[in-house]
Amino acid sequence: MKVHISVDYEGCAGIFSWIERSDMDMGGHLAILRKIMTGETNAAISGVLDAVPGAEIVVADSHETARNLLPEELNPRSELIGGWPRALGMVESTRPST
Ligand SMILES: [Zn+2]
Repeated sequence: MKVHISVDYEGCAGIFSWIERSDMDMGGHLAILRKIMTGETNAAISGVLDAVPGAEIVVADSHETARNLLPEELNPRSELIGGWPRALGMVESTRPST
């Protein structure tokens, strides 16, 4: 089974809208945001692997620059897709061609 996880800041713990995310950015908390986003992504990956141990997992970083997740902290059982352009946007499962 192949599982696609598309991750955006808005919706992570404590980030309910663009406004909260922007406020944290302005306060210099971008590193905290990236950690929260990466931690929640790892939680989702763990849930998938608990349910389907052999799952192939693709994670699409889908917020703004699409370079927010911390690759060094992301579960290595997943493949990270970051950057743009992507033909299918947030739901693209292959790397950008550029
Ligand atoms: Zn976003």
